[in-house]
Amino acid sequence: MKSVKELLSEHGLNPNKALGQNFLSDGAAIERIAALASEPGLPIIEIGPGLGAITLPLAETGLPLAAIELDHALCGVLEGLLPANASVVNADVLKADLEGIAERLGGEIAVCGNLPYYITSPTVMRLVSSKLPIRRMVLMMQKEAADRFFAEPGSKNYGPLTVLSRLRYEIRTALELSPASYFPQPEVSSSVLVFDRNGAETPEGLETLLKCAFRMRRKTLANNLSGMGLARTDAAELINRAGLAPSVRAEALSPEDFVRLCGLLPR
Ligand code: SAM
Repeated sequence: MKSVKELLSEHGLNPNKALGQNFLSDGAAIERIAALASEPGLPIIEIGPGLGAITLPLAETGLPLAAIELDHALCGVLEGLLPANASVVNADVLKADLEGIAERLGGEIAVCGNLPYYITSPTVMRLVSSKLPIRRMVLMMQKEAADRFFAEPGSKNYGPLTVLSRLRYEIRTALELSPASYFPQPEVSSSVLVFDRNGAETPEGLETLLKCAFRMRRKTLANNLSGMGLARTDAAELINRAGLAPSVRAEALSPEDFVRLCGLLPR
């Protein structure tokens, strides 16, 4: 297999910093990520395949695979490398028709990606709040971004992404990587997280509640809930019925508190 540098020079390309192009060049890490993301019978959506470091070993398993890449030039390179069970979709992962792609692949899916760092949060938010039939996700991101998924209530990293992810997935760190695992080398370390769907259903409207509750972190929950069209007195009553203190802030609520609160919202 050709190195990242060889592939770039062969195709006259340079890594595009603005697109978060730090290509994985660590053979052992690639093998481990591909093993984590490939389960017999589970088609794969890959986000940001780049030059195919993870795509190729994934495709070699024979599993159906769709790789979503924004950079048109990289799509051209990939198309020439991939076997028939794998396809490239030239699109922005934040706008792509993920439901349509998943439907074409059929059944439950796995999602894998060394995520472009500049859109890590919106990408994972899109995935965890979607109705996609995801069984497992294997996602690589900056260590600081990964910390958000393990943040406890009351800490500054705790937010909607933490709450939603933890309610729907079992999350663990599978691998930690230093900048030396990439070309070009980023300035930060990275983590590979595995998200396994836990089968739990979350109540309708939870995403909207979380968005409003954390709208202004320094304000009380009662204040922020007025953003959902609730009168201040109704918000106070709701908070009371949920067994929470009147002056509580969103960041103090556990994921289960949010589920309870959501269940009490007027429909
Ligand atoms: N998977 C490759 C690897 O590990 O070597 C590349 C990973 S690199 C960190 C992120 C990749 O995401 C790049 O190929 C970049 O062009 C692509 N990308 C950036 N923004 C994107 C977007 N909005 N939608 C889809 N892909 C994107």
